[in-house]
Amino acid sequence: MLYTSTRDKNVLVSSAQAIAQGISVDGGLFVPTEIPAIDKAFIDSLVPLDYISRAKKVLSLYLTDYTEEEIAYCVEGAYKAGKFSSEKVSPVKKIEGGANILELWRGPTCAFKDMALQLLPYLLTTAAGKTVKDKTIVILVATSGDTGKAALEGFKDVPGTKIMVFYPNDGVSPMQKLQMTTQAGENVAVCAINGNFDDAQNGVKKIFTDEAVKAKLNENGMMFSSANSINWGRLVPQIVYYVSAYCDLIENGTIKNGDEINVVVPTGNFGNILAAYYAKKMGIPVKKLICASNANNVLTDFLKQGVYDRNRSFFTTTSPSMDILISSNLERLLYHLTDESDETIRKWMGELSKDGKYEVCDKVKAQLSDLFDAGCCDDDETAATIKATYDEGYLSDTHTAVAIKVYDEYKKATGDMTETVIASTANPYKFSAAVLKAVKGEVPADADEFEQVDLLRETTGEPCPEQLATLKGKAPRFTACCNKEEMVDTVYAMLGI
Ligand SMILES: *Cc1c(COP(=O)(O)O)cnc(C)c1O
Repeated sequence: MLYTSTRDKNVLVSSAQAIAQGISVDGGLFVPTEIPAIDKAFIDSLVPLDYISRAKKVLSLYLTDYTEEEIAYCVEGAYKAGKFSSEKVSPVKKIEGGANILELWRGPTCAFKDMALQLLPYLLTTAAGKTVKDKTIVILVATSGDTGKAALEGFKDVPGTKIMVFYPNDGVSPMQKLQMTTQAGENVAVCAINGNFDDAQNGVKKIFTDEAVKAKLNENGMMFSSANSINWGRLVPQIVYYVSAYCDLIENGTIKNGDEINVVVPTGNFGNILAAYYAKKMGIPVKKLICASNANNVLTDFLKQGVYDRNRSFFTTTSPSMDILISSNLERLLYHLTDESDETIRKWMGELSKDGKYEVCDKVKAQLSDLFDAGCCDDDETAATIKATYDEGYLSDTHTAVAIKVYDEYKKATGDMTETVIASTANPYKFSAAVLKAVKGEVPADADEFEQVDLLRETTGEPCPEQLATLKGKAPRFTACCNKEEMVDTVYAMLGI
């Protein structure tokens, strides 16, 4: 199977090239030229298997230039016993009111990004072995919180790689900051920058595209790559868990093979819900893809009206991983919905970067309303949902609560009682302050991060994941903070060049 660019159909590369390169030279994203089909018999064959075996079968449909042994090596390394706190890797739990919660946060950093970022380093180093032999891969990440930690944990001590993460000094939660600054590993570095997330992101983009920097790395046998969610190697692992969740529902008797399900996803960059779209196109019978947003509801408006308009206020919410105004992965969906018209994508993406706005054609609008439903909720509704869901027996984080709320509204509006999977994207202890406030009504004003963790544990009796609990009192290893002009020199210093 070959991959092409959403902005230039003449591009044709293997999956290894797409993963090693990250983004196409024309600025487009890599997409498969055809979406592999699976049938009922294939799904039946997956049902008795464990997550690792299911992943091997699904991934081999997309990564056709990886050998069977290579895929086995990658998948077994990523999801081996002990890495995830559930032997099912991403278990499905039924909650009061009937929905099935797909817990995607059982990995080392307690956020769903582990599902992809545990596998990506294996896919990337294997790809590099095929395409750019003998080079050290340098991963640069700008993060607003969850991605940085998940990438550090994924690339920690992976031979042939180095990783450096920049985060805004005042732009991440105390827990997220501690998670990063205490990171172990010989090939990792973390640096705060004086500025906000956009400064960090722009700085990293500038370094990536600077020819002089590229040349200097090249002289030293190194090359940049990206762990960003636009990399196909981050998207393809996410398709697996939707297929696997469908198998789990068959296995536990909730549905029969062939029955339809709905999927609800708390959405930011549109990667997670796009993976569900691919699963549907492959043959998983998904009735509606329900896109849940917080107060930054640019996607709700887009999916309902067909107009993408980022010219609006930006809100800082209690679900920060969804505070985003440009959802990069939407470009891939639009490419498929326009019958692979690279010309149309160039036009719309050009309008987006020039005017911050574009409107899709009627044909795409019709498909959007057929495939998707969408909704949004604010922080008060998120808190009320955490409380109500907790009272019914399930403690959710803020992002998951947004999805639960949007699903409730969907059910009320449509009366649709189809079995539904809700993607749960973070452990509640990652966002202790907001979750505690929602459950308890108030938080002592002077309580620090770990006192809040203790209070949440006392209040709910839910265990706090060990990797978060043991951060308490750990001394930070990376304390440097630089100005954005100094980022290149910081990278050189880390690489010793
Ligand atoms: C990244 C993230 C999201 C958003 O996922 P996208 O794939 O960017 O849509 C939602 N919840 C949490 C906790 C996240 O870390």
